[in-house]
Amino acid sequence: MNVVYDEIHKLHLDPSGRHPENPRRVEEAFSVLKKSEVWSRIKVHGTFEGEFEKLKLIHSKSYISFIEEECGRGFHYIDSDTYVNEKTFYIASRFISTSYYASIKSLESSEPWLIMPRPPGHHAGRNGCAMGAPTLGFCIFNNSAAAAQAMLDSGLRTLIIDFDAHHGNGTQDIFWNEPRVLHIDLHQEGIYPGTGDVGDIGGIGAEGSKINIPLPAFTGDPEYLWLLDNVIKPLIEVFKPEGVVVSAGFDSHVGDPLTMLHVTEYTYSAIASTIMDLMNSGIVKSFVTILEGGYGEGLNMGLKAYVESILGFRCFKYDLKLKPPRGVVVRELSNVLRDYWGLSISLTD
Ligand SMILES: [Zn+2]
Repeated sequence: MNVVYDEIHKLHLDPSGRHPENPRRVEEAFSVLKKSEVWSRIKVHGTFEGEFEKLKLIHSKSYISFIEEECGRGFHYIDSDTYVNEKTFYIASRFISTSYYASIKSLESSEPWLIMPRPPGHHAGRNGCAMGAPTLGFCIFNNSAAAAQAMLDSGLRTLIIDFDAHHGNGTQDIFWNEPRVLHIDLHQEGIYPGTGDVGDIGGIGAEGSKINIPLPAFTGDPEYLWLLDNVIKPLIEVFKPEGVVVSAGFDSHVGDPLTMLHVTEYTYSAIASTIMDLMNSGIVKSFVTILEGGYGEGLNMGLKAYVESILGFRCFKYDLKLKPPRGVVVRELSNVLRDYWGLSISLTD
């Protein structure tokens, strides 16, 4: 397995040290991988040179210029959540090119890639703030979109699974009218960025390709694993993705200081195993995971379990009783799956 970790990420920081999106997050997560038994099976790479041409595939020229100019002014906040400094443009551009080329390399070698970028990216839309979100939510350029765009450019039907606790509004904005990208997004309802309703299904010609699953606080493994079996796997069966991007945000982990979901390693492990089964059977030809959020211990524990499952170190067994999520989400979801995919899901476990 290939992992991109590049110490340049440490140059993007709020010098007060008080921002939850700080260099320690990714440094610690990487050192946990380093100390684990999976380490011998990991090839570590630095980032590739940033290319303006790749940035332009994802973001508008005006947004790219805006970020470049803001970074030129040195450290400051460009909105109430998001900071830049004089290095941010350089760093974020390198991670965009790296995410793009990781998809190509994964396709060539049939090996999974994991990118550990900072700043994260899934809230950054084509023109910046996406779908009416109030801020960029710590994000600058959208790495997951770059990985997915490379798969599209290689002619692959592409699945994005985003399990970060926050809705991947930027990614959804970028591929809103693209029916070749099936984007399944599991997130906590009612928190930042306030987008991602079940009824948001994609633009004209792409209806049904955006599957939003907003979940109440305290939703955990029994519901996530139910959704994996009853929603995600049936969609995969019909869509038959050839490329997969996972927007891996471990702030959905129980105990994360920013959110209230109760996911554990079981769910991350199950999702990784599901994609690896598809890769090992030759259905999925390119598989790239992009790190997104995660602001507590869950990042370290969740990422380790996820990587262990990709590499086959973790045999996935659980004895949980699965159950559908509370509220109206499954009923609303069942209408979308019926109307756009011809799928019927049982409303009971
Ligand atoms: Zn998040």
